[in-house]
Amino acid sequence: MSASVSFSVRHRDPGSPARSGELVTAHGVVRTPAFVGVATQASIKAVEPRGLADHGIQIVIANTYHLHLRPGEETVAALGGIHEFSGWSGPTMTDSGGFQVFSLGAGKEHGVGKIASIFPGEAPPASSGHRSRSGRSLVRLTEQGAEFRSIVDGSLHTFTPESVITIERKLGADIILPLDECTSPLHDYEYTKRAMERTHRWARRGLAAFQLLEQDPSFPNPHQGLYGIVQGGAYRDLREESARVIGAMDFAGCAIGGSLGCSKEEMLRVLDWTVPMLPEERPRHLLGIGEIEDLFAAVRRGIDTFDCAAPTRLARNGSVFLKGASRHRINLRNARFARDERPIDPTCDCFTCRHHSRAYLRHLCRAGEFSFYRLATLHNLRFLVRLMAEIRTAIDEDRLGVLAAEWEVPA
Ligand SMILES: [Zn+2]
Repeated sequence: MSASVSFSVRHRDPGSPARSGELVTAHGVVRTPAFVGVATQASIKAVEPRGLADHGIQIVIANTYHLHLRPGEETVAALGGIHEFSGWSGPTMTDSGGFQVFSLGAGKEHGVGKIASIFPGEAPPASSGHRSRSGRSLVRLTEQGAEFRSIVDGSLHTFTPESVITIERKLGADIILPLDECTSPLHDYEYTKRAMERTHRWARRGLAAFQLLEQDPSFPNPHQGLYGIVQGGAYRDLREESARVIGAMDFAGCAIGGSLGCSKEEMLRVLDWTVPMLPEERPRHLLGIGEIEDLFAAVRRGIDTFDCAAPTRLARNGSVFLKGASRHRINLRNARFARDERPIDPTCDCFTCRHHSRAYLRHLCRAGEFSFYRLATLHNLRFLVRLMAEIRTAIDEDRLGVLAAEWEVPA
């Protein structure tokens, strides 16, 4: 199965598990390693979908949870599926919504995200009930699936491994993900193990539902591929077991999800444990990373695609990428740019750098002009697109280590 999505390795880095390759989908080819633009609501924030290819974006990821709640998969399907609906005709993924369901439960309760700080003395919850501070249950979890309240209107919804596949079939992305149970870094070993085992059972059910509906012409995109999701928190034996179990199932690719630990070091360890256990010939996706150095670290550990909200989130806060600056970015709010006539990055070919000065952008940012969000986002997207192209070329030419050193990224 899964001939709808295929992957081939083009070149392997001699010094690390990094590789370059091609991911072929029904809506085009993605050269890897690639970053996947985050288009939660079927749009990268502040940029119109139609023009994304002009900026070099190869693939985007939309969110099943949000699109299910609004406008609803029936509406998207009636309008021809996510490609036709949004005007973006390139490769597209949808996340399963598991992360949103659980981050609005346990994540909200603990006040943590994917990589979180542990609050000293705070104990992980004993039960599987995710409760808000008021005691009102936000997520009710059973073997059957997850019941949750909409963040849009409070209505009650149920996700099962089967219903999520049907929703994603109706949305029509090229690469889809099955329902998983995401744990927080504050969950203990026993809880994380139970959640991982449930995720494996859900993966089998999701795969069965997917195969049943495969190639069904009544859906907007009959040529979808389903990836499996590896869970297991920051525990080595769980990650290894999950990678083995998910890797042995008939998925088109493998995604690494869930809590990646409480620090960057833990995240890297999770990748070190997980990636070597995954099937060599299948594409590997890392769900949700943030920084330039994470991106190098993921690529050098054998990740082929990753989604990254940083270029858009940072841009909206005035933070734009610039190679060689501290953490490779500058904040345009800074007073030192008030009369700076230079573009953000003189070597950048993006629309923003070709037409506007730091001084003008700083002014727009401070004035809260909508155009600032777009201009800053365009630069950050283009920066990441060009960096990924550099990384691919470096892999092909056996000099990834040299490039990483040039970016002062630790190994
Ligand atoms: Zn630029």
